[in-house]
Amino acid sequence: VTFADLGVSKELCDACEKLNFKHPTEIQKESIPWALEGRDIIGLAQTGSGKTAAFSIPIIQKLWDNPQAFFACIMAPTRELAYQIAETIEGLGSVIGVRCAVLVGGMDMMSQAIALSKRPHILVCTPGRLHDHLENTKGFNLRQLKYLIMDEADRLLDLDFGPKIDAILKVIPRERNTFLFSATMTTKVAKLQRASLTKPVKVEV
Ligand code: AMP
Repeated sequence: VTFADLGVSKELCDACEKLNFKHPTEIQKESIPWALEGRDIIGLAQTGSGKTAAFSIPIIQKLWDNPQAFFACIMAPTRELAYQIAETIEGLGSVIGVRCAVLVGGMDMMSQAIALSKRPHILVCTPGRLHDHLENTKGFNLRQLKYLIMDEADRLLDLDFGPKIDAILKVIPRERNTFLFSATMTTKVAKLQRASLTKPVKVEV
């Protein structure tokens, strides 16, 4: 199986090749076609499975069809993971000029606000800092958002980001696609799934 077989566009197949992604991993094979069809996804996969590219490839391809600011928002539990995700997105998206901003705690709010004023396509955030910008950064909102991704949802909830995530869910469009990835299915993850996804396809590797 190739990325092209999964419905991935020529430009993005070339980007995968440049990153030395020769064949899709299991989680990529199972989720990319559904994501491109417009379904919500709950993915149970560990770090190392290729889950980052599994959600990044479809959102970059959809962005290519419909380029706009604040197209997708990815929430991750830690700064380190947020930067890793942004690196993958920049690697895959550079061919089509994807602009990405990282909003994480412990960094200067003002320089992040300046990055937001440049209207990036994709945000990679920790929930606390995203919520802070939604409340305090003038002119910033996610009313145009098309894709919400929650990565490592079990860790997000273990770190008590639940209330922030609930507050964020209230101010983003209901009409959107949502992908939720988690290493484990816990009671809390199941509850978040019910609150945020619509008729999701479950993929498990
Ligand atoms: P992740 O599970 O997203 O943390 O990815 C684990 C590692 O696998 C990262 O270093 C990726 O660059 C790499 N990777 C992701 N997809 C592929 C692929 N299709 N082929 C080879 N390496 C990949």
